[in-house]
Amino acid sequence: MKASFDITRLVRPNILALEPYSCARNEFHGQASVWLDANESPYNAPYNRYPDPLQLRVKAALSRVKGVPSECIFLGNGSDECIDLVYRVFCEPGRDNVVAMAPSYGMYEVCAHINDVAYRKVPLRDDYTLDVDAMLAAVTPSTKAIFLCSPNNPTGNAIDVALIERLLIDFDGIVVVDEAYGDFSSKPSMRFKLRDYPNLLVMQTFSKAWGSAGVRLGMAFASKQIIDLFNKVKYPYNVNLLTQRYALEHLEKIEQTKAWTSTILAERSRLIAALEQLPQVVTTYPTDANFVLVKTIDADGIYNYLRDHGIIVRNRSRVEKCLGCLRITVGTSQENDAVINAIKQYG
Ligand code: PMP
Repeated sequence: MKASFDITRLVRPNILALEPYSCARNEFHGQASVWLDANESPYNAPYNRYPDPLQLRVKAALSRVKGVPSECIFLGNGSDECIDLVYRVFCEPGRDNVVAMAPSYGMYEVCAHINDVAYRKVPLRDDYTLDVDAMLAAVTPSTKAIFLCSPNNPTGNAIDVALIERLLIDFDGIVVVDEAYGDFSSKPSMRFKLRDYPNLLVMQTFSKAWGSAGVRLGMAFASKQIIDLFNKVKYPYNVNLLTQRYALEHLEKIEQTKAWTSTILAERSRLIAALEQLPQVVTTYPTDANFVLVKTIDADGIYNYLRDHGIIVRNRSRVEKCLGCLRITVGTSQENDAVINAIKQYG
């Protein structure tokens, strides 16, 4: 990112030129007693009304919790929506590409294919650290974004902030840092660096530490310019009324989320220590997330055995650099005992 960073140079021309849909709820703000502008039913309040398209109350609450101005927050139907919007806003189908670390979260690649955008994978080093030089070497004049995941799914480790900053400085495009598992990490969030880097886009989610995967709420934090572009392209009412209400209530319960997180972290240590004792386990990899990647003597065999005993883990043994590996989510202490005891019985 050079001193004269110009976001418009990165945006698809049709998106720059786009006249966005203006819904009824965009056009009138204020108090009224008769709403006849949106062809809604007059019955079944409050569900008869379309929700706030920009989710301003949720963003105001989130702004206080996250320390990011409201205008620098985008809310989506899960962070999966935010991932897709990176492509739809910046990447010209059939021409542009993105660079991403591998292995990492599968939706970056799936969304690239859906949008007909080339996906340039750069392997992590054998210890799962980021190879910044290789990432930069993979960049071409048509690279619009770099995808980073920290802590990374499925490896579990967080990326060194200094390495992310090198990419933010040396790459003249968007650097996405997906912090879906950031609440479980001791490393600081990159959202505090938004003012330093106009090309930074940080993603987080309610699906992990906030215990709310079912409500579908993802966040993107970036410059107002980037957030405005996302708002221009998203579906008008992408976050429904029930989710917005739920989020407002749930954001009052930060202490509960923190308590869940510390219990999960304590359980994570206990789970790892127990797994390390098992002859079926070759090694566990260092993790900053609510899961642990475990190298086993026989991933398929153990996966099937666990499945037959009603325990489902994620078999990652066919993913690059994860030969023999299962990814195990940290559950309750009973759930963790169940998986430990079942693996112990295997073989
Ligand atoms: N990013 C990462 C790294 C993930 O692992 C996941 C889901 N497993 C997501 C994003 C998607 O999260 P959401 O539920 O917010 O769509």
